[in-house]
Amino acid sequence: MRIILLGAPGAGKGTVAKLLTEYDGSIQISTGDILRSAVKEGTALGKEAKGYMDRGDLVPDELIMKLMEERLQQDDCGKGFILDGFPRTIPQAEALKQLLAKLKMNLDFVVNLEVPRDVILDRLTTRRTCSNPDCQEIYNIKSNPPTPDGKCKKCGSPVIQRDDETEEAILNRLETYQEKTAPLAGFYERDGILKNFESIESQETVKKIKAALG
Ligand code: AMP
Repeated sequence: MRIILLGAPGAGKGTVAKLLTEYDGSIQISTGDILRSAVKEGTALGKEAKGYMDRGDLVPDELIMKLMEERLQQDDCGKGFILDGFPRTIPQAEALKQLLAKLKMNLDFVVNLEVPRDVILDRLTTRRTCSNPDCQEIYNIKSNPPTPDGKCKKCGSPVIQRDDETEEAILNRLETYQEKTAPLAGFYERDGILKNFESIESQETVKKIKAALG
């Protein structure tokens, strides 16, 4: 499959994407994960991106497009991909359209995950993430806690609250989402490839997405 996952921070894009990869071998491409690894490794991209990310602002479109142009041409994209957290702005969506045309790739459709704001806020403030860049397993202190001493159940690394998950950064990310990313639903609706899914429980959402894929 080739799909884009749209939805606010905390809408469950990462969880839904991981579940979908088990369906047909398509890979999850999360620009957020790629950027966090770059920050951790201290690459030039990471150094440039860190300030924006910590404040909950978007990283400039040119950096993201350079990264994605390379990523989408790697061999593992052959089986299909689930774009998680990209595109995030209208210029990114326009650039992606051109890039996919150049690479002769079509999207199946664009999934818009619709989640009530109170659910999103609760999820974001209780979310914790494995600090190992190769793992990045997501936990929730209420519904899916790490081990009692705060370690990842998969890889044993410390589970942390991300810098962009402070209350201030969370509110900024939600505002940025409304302003810059929410208009993408209209963009893809006009292209006739948008599908909306009310999404509270990820497993249920994945079933609905699979049914839509046929
Ligand atoms: P995420 O894990 O998808 O919420 O991304 C974490 C942070 O990485 C965001 O708050 C942005 O600062 C940055 N980021 C991720 N994807 C993008 C994108 N497509 N465009 C701009 N910034 C991005």
